[in-house]
Amino acid sequence: MSAYDAIVVGLGAAGSATAWQLAARGLRVLGLDRFRPPHDHGSSHGRSRIIRQAYWEGPSYVPLVLDAYERWHRLEQASGVDLLRITGGLMIGPADGAVLSGSLASARAHNLPHEILEAAEMRRRFPDFVLAAGEAALFEPLAGVLRPEAAVAAMLARAAAAGALLRFEEPVLDWTATAEGGVRVRTAAGTVEAARLVLAAGSWMAQILPRGCPQLAVERLVVAWFGRPAGASGAGATAQPIWIRQLPDGRELYGLPELEPGEGLKAAFHNVRTPSDTTVADQPAQPTELAAIDDALRRYCPGLAGPLLAAATCRYTSTADSHFLIDRLEGQPQVVLVSACSGHGFKFAPTIGAAAADLAIKGQTDLPISGFSLARLSAAHGG
Ligand SMILES: Cc1cc2nc3c(=O)[nH]c(=O)nc-3n(C[C@H](O)[C@H](O)[C@H](O)COP(=O)(O)OP(=O)(O)OC[C@H]3O[C@@H](n4cnc5c(N)ncnc54)[C@H](O)[C@@H]3O)c2cc1C
Repeated sequence: MSAYDAIVVGLGAAGSATAWQLAARGLRVLGLDRFRPPHDHGSSHGRSRIIRQAYWEGPSYVPLVLDAYERWHRLEQASGVDLLRITGGLMIGPADGAVLSGSLASARAHNLPHEILEAAEMRRRFPDFVLAAGEAALFEPLAGVLRPEAAVAAMLARAAAAGALLRFEEPVLDWTATAEGGVRVRTAAGTVEAARLVLAAGSWMAQILPRGCPQLAVERLVVAWFGRPAGASGAGATAQPIWIRQLPDGRELYGLPELEPGEGLKAAFHNVRTPSDTTVADQPAQPTELAAIDDALRRYCPGLAGPLLAAATCRYTSTADSHFLIDRLEGQPQVVLVSACSGHGFKFAPTIGAAAADLAIKGQTDLPISGFSLARLSAAHGG
């Protein structure tokens, strides 16, 4: 018999959630991470993450995000830590643009509370934003901000409390399937066996995926924090909504309010990224990259554009269609892949963990994740 029922490789957002769910269901779980999570080397750092319901990327995400809200609330209760602040959210752009029209489609399809705000109403309620002719905003009252480092720590604490053994600073070097249908995993510290394997290595996934798996794009993204401009109008900095704005040139600028006074508003371009090499640390944010965010803020959200306070980089790991990858490995059903959240997966973490645990234990899940299959990527990849 293997020493463990399941080994989880990578304990960031996806892996910590999966380890927690597996251990909570009574499995003997070993979680391994190359660093000491929560850390700032991968994709789950930077103090804040958006959570929203009127999902412009597709109405099929809405049941998943509604499930995630419930799980975040239960995690807050179980851990006694504040993880989620409801701020409301603005999805801004041209009426026929993907952000606004996609949000509206999701809100209508799932009967979500929302309002459409034209330029005059925006000026009255959210004077920090300037709208051009033909632009509008969808306001959703239940959008908010998650604290990613605290959330990963809370999920790891729940996993450990449920009996999972978590080993940090122990990179997984490789793994093989055993003749008995389990797995043998080689780490920097030795070899360990289990009945099941969950691969949740984020931007390092390519290093532990078998050859022939569809490629995942790993990219570096720059985020920056800005103070309030002198004499700023509008609500106080901590009372702002989250917002995503599709600019006329196609860039998607987004912002999150500060969670702690003085921390600053966080802003970044969702779709301005550079390739990342996971074998070395990413290049720090460059002055030109920060100037681009600053310029866009001044032009489109002048009430928010104060002095630059800080900057960071973070990694997106994306599939070819920007949807997630949560599936069992073809031909090796004891191996579950849970990754490639394509820059928008944090909000779903506890639901992703539950789905991955279902796949690892039962081979299927009632959660609607059929759109995240490996097969759809393999077909597109020609393999
Ligand atoms: C700047 C930025 C902003 C974002 N904003 C949002 C947002 O507002 N809302 C939202 O929902 N999502 C957002 N996302 C996306 C979201 O944060 C990610 O989808 C999510 O954090 C990815 O989690 P992960 O577990 O896949 O990766 P990670 O959290 O990076 O975890 C992977 C883990 O695997 C470990 N690991 C890797 N290789 C090995 C190995 N060989 N052996 C052992 N351990 C290993 C790593 O150390 C790491 O801890 C954002 C992402 C970025 C970068």
